[in-house]
Amino acid sequence: MPDYRDFNRIERITRIEGTLVNETPLRVGTGGEPLIGAPVDIAVYRIDDIPVIPGSSLKGVFRAYIESIAPTLGFRDVHSPWDHERIEEEAGERDGKVDFCPICGIFGNTKLASHVKVYDAYPREPEEAKRSFIKTGIGIDRIFGAVRPGIGPFKEEFLRPGLEWDFKMDVINIQLYPKPGDLRGEMLRTLLNTLSDIGLQVGARKSVGAGLMRLREGRWILYTSREGRIERKEEGRL
Ligand SMILES: [Zn+2]
Repeated sequence: MPDYRDFNRIERITRIEGTLVNETPLRVGTGGEPLIGAPVDIAVYRIDDIPVIPGSSLKGVFRAYIESIAPTLGFRDVHSPWDHERIEEEAGERDGKVDFCPICGIFGNTKLASHVKVYDAYPREPEEAKRSFIKTGIGIDRIFGAVRPGIGPFKEEFLRPGLEWDFKMDVINIQLYPKPGDLRGEMLRTLLNTLSDIGLQVGARKSVGAGLMRLREGRWILYTSREGRIERKEEGRL
C-alpha cells in the first residue's frame, strides 16, 4: 500500500505552465468583513493593488474537482480534506505501513506534505486587470440560495472577462507525462485536460457562472534528478 512520504528524495518534478483566461467575470475574494467606509462590500483579492489569484484558491478548486471525478477513475473512498479522524487513520501505521489515499497523496493533509505546488497567478496586463466593475447584489442566503429579507443590496467587485493570467504549478515525484505512473498521475492529467477543454470555476458566484477559467497553451516540462542534479529531460503540450 502506498506511503507517499517520499520528499527525502526528489526524483522528478513536472512543471505545468500556461495561460489561464477567465471567460466570465471573476472575483476571488478576501473572505473578510468589509472595512467601514469601503467603496465596495466584497472586494477582489489584491497584492500591492494588483488583482491576484492565490495559488491556494486554485489548489482548492483542483482538489474539489479531483474528489468529484475520483469515483469514475476507480477510487470511491473519497473523504473531506477536514476529516481529521480519517487522516489520522491514513497516517497511522498498520503492520509497519501507512496508507494514504491518492487524493491526499497529491494534495497532502495535516500529516503529509503536498506533492503539488500551485503558484499565485498574476495578470499579464496588470493595468487591464485593475479595471474592475461593481455589481449590486441582493441579499442571498448562503445556505438556501434564496433572497433573504433584511439583507440590503450590497456592492460586489468583479474582474472583467478575458484577462490572461500566468499559470504555474509544480508536481513532485508523481509521474504525469509522457505516461501517468499511477492513479495520482491519471487524476492530475484528467484535471489538466478538463481545465484546458472546458475550464473550471474559481472564486465566488459559481452558481451564476462566474469565475470560469480555462488553460490555454498548456505545456509540461519534466525535470529528473541524476546524480543529485536536477536536469530538464522532456517536454510537451498538454
Ligand atoms: Zn486521504
